[in-house]
Amino acid sequence: MHLERSRTLLQEALEVIPGGVNSPVRAFRAVGGTPPFIERGQGAYLYDVDGNRYLDCIGSWGPLIFGHAHPRVLAAIRDQLEHGTTFGAPTVLEVRLAQEIVEAVPSIEKVRLVSSGTEATMSAIRVARGFTGRNRIVKFEGNYHGHADFLLAKAGSGVATLGLPECAGVPPNVTADTLTLPYNDTKAVRELFAAEGDTIACVILEPVVGNMGCVPPQPGFLETLREVTARHGSVLIFDEVMTGFRLAYGGAQERFGVTPDMTALGKILGGGLPLGAYGGRAEIMDTVAPAGPVYQAGTLSGNPVAVTAGRTLLGLLRENRATVYARLESMGRQIAEGLYAAAAQAGVPVTVNQVGSMVTVFFTEHGPVTDYASARTSSTAQFARWFHAMLEQGIYWPPSQFEAAFLSAVMTDADVEHLLAAAHTAFARCAEERATS
Ligand SMILES: *Cc1c(COP(=O)(O)O)cnc(C)c1O
Repeated sequence: MHLERSRTLLQEALEVIPGGVNSPVRAFRAVGGTPPFIERGQGAYLYDVDGNRYLDCIGSWGPLIFGHAHPRVLAAIRDQLEHGTTFGAPTVLEVRLAQEIVEAVPSIEKVRLVSSGTEATMSAIRVARGFTGRNRIVKFEGNYHGHADFLLAKAGSGVATLGLPECAGVPPNVTADTLTLPYNDTKAVRELFAAEGDTIACVILEPVVGNMGCVPPQPGFLETLREVTARHGSVLIFDEVMTGFRLAYGGAQERFGVTPDMTALGKILGGGLPLGAYGGRAEIMDTVAPAGPVYQAGTLSGNPVAVTAGRTLLGLLRENRATVYARLESMGRQIAEGLYAAAAQAGVPVTVNQVGSMVTVFFTEHGPVTDYASARTSSTAQFARWFHAMLEQGIYWPPSQFEAAFLSAVMTDADVEHLLAAAHTAFARCAEERATS
């Protein structure tokens, strides 16, 4: 595989951009080597500046559930561009999107649009604190909720990938009110709430984690959180930036039948453009300015181009709702089973976690991965070998053990076969290196 032009571009990038990238995991630090510089995307494929083609198992880290450059999305964006790109004044488009979100997501009665997932979770927590008059928040180890200061305690995603224990530049007093518990630890949740539940403004979590690799909630975990937060008047926030419109049209809350008080959205919501949202019970959302005293604003919030892209993608999902989620689930399962079988045949111990179109192969021999501690038993060195063997065969898997792969609805049976054949070879290569090392 030639990466000459990417290598040159990386050198240029390193001169003017920290680490050469605008978001850390893109730099391939955890797996080594040169990240391909991407020239274009079409359907399920990415094309780099050196002429390599890859099956895209990242989908821009979540948004592209119908692949790259979907003709309907492009046409809608083009049409909107003719009418202007931003107004800083109300539009009919944002009202329609808000109605569609309220219709889709069980917990949301009112919603505010922002420009990223980071803004969505950060603002939701401000609102939860304003609504309850309490300061303390609870999050879970290995969950990632964007890069707001007070959420960078024991965070997942790039923070986990780089193995950062804490983030420089975040003063200790800023995270002093952030309590962190192990994911899926129902007992720890009950104990904390029994002791100090009435001081807790909110609990925020990924209802299915993607940001320490894919880790599903164990039976009863979401229900316990619902029960104890309700009992103590704390706001339960599902961060569905990743899972929203992906695990079901109404997100993980529809899939698992547990309704939080508030929900953060992003990724798929923007159809590939920058857009996020947070919403919840009307009583809570009416504390947001100008309706209430919690200030939150944005120059480009509800941007008409992003809203148009998002509405078009949501429309595609609604039209295909009867089939698309079932297809993503069966494709996810087929890939998970195929990866298991290929690893077993090569004699490489792994745990594969999969929920719908989210998949992670953990290179661990220590059994199920249910939280951050068990995720961290994985061999990142073996993952890196496997990752590069996949990349060389034209499969672009996320370049970190602690990120979930995302399947898209435009992947074909032939794509799945290609992926599994490549995985077979990649696991065999891992086994050879295990034997010689
Ligand atoms: C990606 C992500 C975020 C942050 O969204 P950005 O748009 O990158 O700011 C927050 N929460 C979860 C669960 C995410 O996956």
